[in-house]
Amino acid sequence: MRASSTGEIDADRLWSRLSELAEIGKSEGGGVTRLSFTEEEWAAKDLVASYMREAGLAVREDAAGNLIGRREGRVEDAPVVLTGSHVDSVRNGGDFDGPLGALGAVEALQTMDERGVETERPVEVVAFTDEEGARFSFGMIGSRATAGTLTPEHLANEDENGVSIAEAMRASGLDPGRIDEVARAPGSVYAYVELHIEQGRILESKNLPVGVVTGIAGPAWLRFTLAGEAAHAGTTPMNLRRDALAAAAEVIGRIEREAARTGTSVGTVGQLDLSPGGINIVPGQVSFSLDLRDIDEDVRDDVEARIMHEAALLCEKRDVELETKTLQRLPPAPCSALVQDAAREACETLGFEPFGLASGAGHDGMHLTELCPIGMIFVRSKDGLSHNPAEYSSKDDCTAGAEVLYRTLLKLAGET
Ligand SMILES: [Zn+2]
Repeated sequence: MRASSTGEIDADRLWSRLSELAEIGKSEGGGVTRLSFTEEEWAAKDLVASYMREAGLAVREDAAGNLIGRREGRVEDAPVVLTGSHVDSVRNGGDFDGPLGALGAVEALQTMDERGVETERPVEVVAFTDEEGARFSFGMIGSRATAGTLTPEHLANEDENGVSIAEAMRASGLDPGRIDEVARAPGSVYAYVELHIEQGRILESKNLPVGVVTGIAGPAWLRFTLAGEAAHAGTTPMNLRRDALAAAAEVIGRIEREAARTGTSVGTVGQLDLSPGGINIVPGQVSFSLDLRDIDEDVRDDVEARIMHEAALLCEKRDVELETKTLQRLPPAPCSALVQDAAREACETLGFEPFGLASGAGHDGMHLTELCPIGMIFVRSKDGLSHNPAEYSSKDDCTAGAEVLYRTLLKLAGET
């Protein structure tokens, strides 16, 4: 399904810019690496800045290194509509995660310019600094700063060479002491909408090019530690064992079952350590992680409570001690009705089914929910792949997403 009859954006220009940006930080194997505050991220921002100028936008950079291109509205001092994404990447990532939203937004604003569209509110494209967190294991730096929630403690996070975020900022000519200036004032932002690849298989399975995001799932990260007793594998009868791994296996089975029961939650055990770790030793201690997400916080917390209850019973039955620790707990970020409605209407105008889906992955918008209504538009990902050099969305699908973004922005900014 292609919106060629009602299409307004320049599909070739968007595609060629995506291709050009993808060359920055590209390895011979095809993967893209653009870590924050490195030459590659700056080169990507410089290229996007040149596109912003071609689009007639007023370009500036804030104290967090966020790149911003502004198109004025008709009403002076009206709150701004924000759109955009990020141009940093994970190590050996793909061509579309981030760039599609940044360049799709530039394309939408350039189209407004070329068509002489006037809007009531100004619109700004933002390329946020470090969304991925690949360098400092701490991401969404630019959006946190925009929301006013980035703290000096956050800036102390270090990369693998012991360089802190604050030091990396200084090396890039940014003053971490001025980070407070980045925060947008309450009421100054009308809405935030981001175009992004889905990074999953839902749209592909529905045979749809685009979707409207209903919310961004909030992750709860936990660590389970089970202590039984290490013993000789040959001499310890089955009924006298306190096997920590056998207990953990049962708990992990319950995690899978409880998460699956809701139809919306996802639960993943991605790390597991055991000791002593001998072929002839009953495992005495096991520790594993849990990443649990849902777009409804109550649903997520209910699943978590059931898992905790079951885990306690299972461990008690086996005389294995259980300890759990919460590592991180982020609330889900529901997408606002304002942005969802605008995006749905845009889909309908273009002849696309206004299909709603949740985002399992985190995005910059999560940090902006206190500041303004947020929303996202997803584009189909081939085989659901992302954070992988094989990440791909077709030219037609990228075009469809940018068309939906263009019309969503017209609605939000108040086309006059
Ligand atoms: Zn992304």
